[in-house]
Amino acid sequence: MTLCATEVCKTYPTRGEPLSILRGVSLTLQRGEALAVMGPSGSGKSTLLHILGTLDRPTSGTVTLEQEDPFRLPEPQLAEFRNRRIGFVFQDHHLLPQCTVLENVLIPTLVNRSGQIEALEAWARQLLERVGLKERMQHRPAELSGGERQRVAVARALIHQPLLLLADEPTGNLDRKSALAVAELLLELHRQQNTILVVVTHSAELARLFPQRMEMIDGRLQPVA
Ligand code: ADP
Ligand code: MG
Repeated sequence: MTLCATEVCKTYPTRGEPLSILRGVSLTLQRGEALAVMGPSGSGKSTLLHILGTLDRPTSGTVTLEQEDPFRLPEPQLAEFRNRRIGFVFQDHHLLPQCTVLENVLIPTLVNRSGQIEALEAWARQLLERVGLKERMQHRPAELSGGERQRVAVARALIHQPLLLLADEPTGNLDRKSALAVAELLLELHRQQNTILVVVTHSAELARLFPQRMEMIDGRLQPVA
């Protein structure tokens, strides 16, 4: 097994009673598996994705990737692990407006420069070709449509060939047709790269494209009825 969450709880302190958002989430996903997570707004979907992505720590419970608990790593190594092994796509693309499309895809590689820039650039170009943006590599994000920007974000998430690909409502700001195209692209690249893919979506139509579907209800993941 590759990604394993066991009895993950997340509680936020407040002035009064603490807010109990995740109340024992358990989940096992192998390489090559894809899961859509649904659930009402405020139910804890982003909280769960942040914890699976090691951006946030659980209050209790464990998360392991390839049998290792990343939260045991000291912060700099955890950041390095996250950068290398986990790809994120957010609702808002988070592209840098002053950089070209190609430069944006290469941004994660600037964090730990490892001297193989030509190979990385060749891979970035290949990814951009795969997401249908071969002719747009030198454009700035403002020159692209919303769907195209999200496709750049997908390419960027894959630059380090991550083990785990996490997408938090990646199509939330797109029209139906672009949303379907981005979701299908995520699934296609996930299959090609043999990643674990977890996508949060509000759309039942998109969720149906995924082999596994779960719903966040009362702080727990339940199979979609
Ligand atoms: P979803 O993504 O399903 O809409 P979230 O995971 O973003 O839900 O949030 C779940 C709940 O946790 C919300 O009620 C939100 O206000 C609360 N929450 C999220 N982050 C924090 C935080 N850092 N401190 C306090 N409450 C938070
Ligand atoms: Mg959310």
